[in-house]
Amino acid sequence: MLDLTIQHGWLSQQKQCPSPHFDPRPVAGDISLLVIHYISLPPEEFGGDFIDRFFQGTLDPTRHPYFEEIKDLRVSAHCLINRQGKITQYVNFEDMAWHAGLSNFEGREKCNEFSIGIELEGSNNQPFTDAQYHTLARLTHCLMANYPQITPNRIVGHSDISPGRKIDPGQYFDWQRYRGMLSNLR
Ligand SMILES: [Zn+2]
Repeated sequence: MLDLTIQHGWLSQQKQCPSPHFDPRPVAGDISLLVIHYISLPPEEFGGDFIDRFFQGTLDPTRHPYFEEIKDLRVSAHCLINRQGKITQYVNFEDMAWHAGLSNFEGREKCNEFSIGIELEGSNNQPFTDAQYHTLARLTHCLMANYPQITPNRIVGHSDISPGRKIDPGQYFDWQRYRGMLSNLR
Protein backbone atom coordinates (compact mmCIF):
# COMPACT_ATOMS: atom_id res chain seq x y z
CA MET A 1 0.00 0.00 0.00
CA LEU A 2 1.18 3.49 -0.84
CA ASP A 3 2.11 5.17 2.43
CA LEU A 4 2.62 8.88 1.88
CA THR A 5 4.07 11.43 4.26
CA ILE A 6 4.94 15.08 3.77
CA GLN A 7 7.94 16.77 5.35
CA HIS A 8 8.58 20.48 4.86
CA GLY A 9 6.24 20.55 1.88
CA TRP A 10 7.74 17.58 0.03
CA LEU A 11 6.49 14.01 -0.18
CA SER A 12 8.95 11.61 1.39
CA GLN A 13 10.31 8.78 -0.77
CA GLN A 14 8.61 9.91 -3.97
CA LYS A 15 10.33 11.13 -7.12
CA GLN A 16 11.24 14.80 -6.98
CA CYS A 17 11.85 16.88 -10.06
CA PRO A 18 12.10 20.47 -8.80
CA SER A 19 10.66 23.09 -11.14
CA PRO A 20 11.74 26.74 -11.30
CA HIS A 21 8.14 27.64 -12.18
CA PHE A 22 6.76 28.66 -8.79
CA ASP A 23 6.39 31.61 -6.42
CA PRO A 24 5.96 31.87 -2.68
CA ARG A 25 2.28 31.92 -1.75
CA PRO A 26 1.09 35.51 -1.14
CA VAL A 27 -0.38 34.36 2.16
CA ALA A 28 1.81 31.66 3.70
CA GLY A 29 -0.16 28.58 4.71
CA ASP A 30 -3.22 29.56 2.66
CA ILE A 31 -3.74 26.12 1.11
CA SER A 32 -7.45 25.51 0.78
CA LEU A 33 -8.25 24.09 -2.66
CA LEU A 34 -7.22 21.01 -4.66
CA VAL A 35 -7.35 21.21 -8.46
CA ILE A 36 -7.28 18.08 -10.66
CA HIS A 37 -5.87 18.30 -14.19
CA TYR A 38 -4.74 16.07 -16.99
CA ILE A 39 -1.74 16.40 -19.27
CA SER A 40 -0.02 14.30 -21.92
CA LEU A 41 3.05 15.17 -23.98
CA PRO A 42 2.94 14.88 -26.90
CA PRO A 43 -0.87 15.01 -26.73
CA GLU A 44 -2.36 11.50 -26.39
CA GLU A 45 1.06 9.89 -25.82
CA PHE A 46 2.11 8.51 -22.47
CA GLY A 47 5.49 7.70 -20.95
CA GLY A 48 8.78 9.45 -21.53
CA ASP A 49 10.11 12.42 -19.61
CA PHE A 50 8.57 15.23 -21.63
CA ILE A 51 6.23 16.37 -18.84
CA ASP A 52 9.16 16.56 -16.40
CA ARG A 53 11.10 18.61 -18.91
CA PHE A 54 8.12 20.85 -19.70
CA PHE A 55 7.60 21.71 -16.04
CA GLN A 56 11.34 22.22 -15.58
CA GLY A 57 11.56 24.56 -18.56
CA THR A 58 13.92 22.26 -20.46
CA LEU A 59 11.63 20.78 -23.14
CA ASP A 60 13.48 20.45 -26.45
CA PRO A 61 11.16 22.07 -29.06
CA THR A 62 12.73 20.08 -31.88
CA ARG A 63 11.47 16.75 -30.51
CA HIS A 64 7.85 17.23 -31.64
CA PRO A 65 5.91 19.89 -33.60
CA TYR A 66 3.60 20.47 -30.63
CA PHE A 67 6.56 21.29 -28.39
CA GLU A 68 7.32 24.25 -30.65
CA GLU A 69 3.86 25.65 -29.81
CA ILE A 70 4.30 25.37 -26.06
CA LYS A 71 8.00 26.11 -25.75
CA ASP A 72 7.49 29.56 -24.22
CA LEU A 73 4.88 28.50 -21.65
CA ARG A 74 6.08 28.64 -18.08
CA VAL A 75 3.85 26.29 -16.12
CA SER A 76 4.05 23.63 -13.45
CA ALA A 77 1.97 21.60 -11.05
CA HIS A 78 2.74 20.32 -7.60
CA CYS A 79 2.50 16.68 -8.65
CA LEU A 80 2.02 14.37 -11.60
CA ILE A 81 0.54 10.89 -11.31
CA ASN A 82 1.65 8.84 -14.31
CA ARG A 83 -0.21 5.94 -15.94
CA GLN A 84 1.45 3.49 -13.54
CA GLY A 85 0.29 5.50 -10.54
CA LYS A 86 3.75 6.83 -9.73
CA ILE A 87 4.04 10.32 -8.28
CA THR A 88 6.51 12.99 -9.31
CA GLN A 89 6.58 16.20 -7.27
CA TYR A 90 7.76 19.43 -8.91
CA VAL A 91 6.87 22.21 -6.47
CA ASN A 92 6.83 22.39 -2.67
CA PHE A 93 3.23 22.30 -1.47
CA GLU A 94 3.93 25.39 0.64
CA ASP A 95 4.74 27.31 -2.57
CA MET A 96 2.48 28.33 -5.46
CA ALA A 97 2.71 26.25 -8.63
CA TRP A 98 1.62 27.70 -11.95
CA HIS A 99 -1.18 25.33 -12.95
CA ALA A 100 -4.55 27.10 -12.90
CA GLY A 101 -4.08 30.36 -14.86
CA LEU A 102 -7.16 32.56 -15.12
CA SER A 103 -9.51 30.99 -12.62
CA ASN A 104 -12.22 31.63 -10.08
CA PHE A 105 -13.43 29.50 -7.19
CA GLU A 106 -16.55 30.74 -5.38
CA GLY A 107 -15.78 34.34 -6.32
CA ARG A 108 -12.09 34.25 -5.51
CA GLU A 109 -9.71 34.62 -8.45
CA LYS A 110 -6.09 33.52 -8.98
CA CYS A 111 -6.63 30.03 -7.65
CA ASN A 112 -2.90 29.26 -7.86
CA GLU A 113 -2.46 31.42 -4.79
CA PHE A 114 -4.41 29.11 -2.51
CA SER A 115 -4.48 25.74 -4.27
CA ILE A 116 -2.52 22.58 -4.88
CA GLY A 117 -2.49 21.31 -8.46
CA ILE A 118 -2.29 17.62 -9.34
CA GLU A 119 -1.87 16.45 -12.92
CA LEU A 120 -2.96 13.01 -14.07
CA GLU A 121 -1.14 11.72 -17.11
CA GLY A 122 -4.07 11.43 -19.47
CA SER A 123 -6.33 13.06 -22.02
CA ASN A 124 -9.97 13.59 -22.89
CA ASN A 125 -9.99 10.46 -25.06
CA GLN A 126 -8.83 7.64 -22.79
CA PRO A 127 -9.90 6.41 -19.36
CA PHE A 128 -7.52 6.95 -16.47
CA THR A 129 -5.93 3.83 -14.96
CA ASP A 130 -6.88 2.03 -11.76
CA ALA A 131 -3.39 2.79 -10.44
CA GLN A 132 -3.98 6.49 -11.00
CA TYR A 133 -7.24 6.47 -9.01
CA HIS A 134 -5.62 4.58 -6.16
CA THR A 135 -2.66 6.93 -5.98
CA LEU A 136 -4.84 10.03 -6.37
CA ALA A 137 -7.08 8.93 -3.49
CA ARG A 138 -4.04 8.22 -1.27
CA LEU A 139 -2.37 11.50 -2.19
CA THR A 140 -5.57 13.47 -1.61
CA HIS A 141 -6.01 11.80 1.77
CA CYS A 142 -2.45 12.73 2.72
CA LEU A 143 -2.89 16.34 1.54
CA MET A 144 -6.14 16.74 3.47
CA ALA A 145 -4.42 15.47 6.61
CA ASN A 146 -1.57 17.94 6.20
CA TYR A 147 -3.61 20.88 4.89
CA PRO A 148 -6.99 20.58 6.62
CA GLN A 149 -8.48 23.60 4.86
CA ILE A 150 -8.78 21.24 1.85
CA THR A 151 -12.18 19.66 2.42
CA PRO A 152 -14.19 17.41 0.05
CA ASN A 153 -16.17 20.34 -1.32
CA ARG A 154 -12.92 22.17 -2.03
CA ILE A 155 -11.66 19.56 -4.51
CA VAL A 156 -12.40 20.60 -8.08
CA GLY A 157 -11.42 20.08 -11.69
CA HIS A 158 -9.59 22.69 -13.70
CA SER A 159 -12.73 22.98 -15.83
CA ASP A 160 -14.70 23.99 -12.72
CA ILE A 161 -12.52 27.02 -12.00
CA SER A 162 -11.71 27.96 -15.63
CA PRO A 163 -14.98 27.16 -17.45
CA GLY A 164 -15.00 27.83 -21.18
CA ARG A 165 -11.21 27.87 -21.21
CA LYS A 166 -10.26 24.44 -19.83
CA ILE A 167 -11.91 21.02 -20.04
CA ASP A 168 -9.58 18.92 -17.87
CA PRO A 169 -9.80 16.50 -16.14
CA GLY A 170 -12.38 15.76 -18.82
CA GLN A 171 -15.17 13.33 -19.60
CA TYR A 172 -13.27 10.23 -18.50
CA PHE A 173 -12.46 11.39 -15.00
CA ASP A 174 -14.80 9.45 -12.70
CA TRP A 175 -15.59 11.86 -9.88
CA GLN A 176 -17.95 9.41 -8.20
CA ARG A 177 -15.30 6.72 -8.08
CA TYR A 178 -12.67 9.14 -6.81
CA ARG A 179 -14.90 10.60 -4.10
CA GLY A 180 -16.02 7.13 -3.08
CA MET A 181 -12.44 5.92 -2.72
CA LEU A 182 -11.61 9.05 -0.75
CA SER A 183 -14.48 8.61 1.69
CA ASN A 184 -13.38 5.00 2.28
CA LEU A 185 -9.98 6.29 3.44
CA ARG A 186 -11.39 8.75 5.96
ZN1 LIG B 1 -5.43 21.96 -16.26
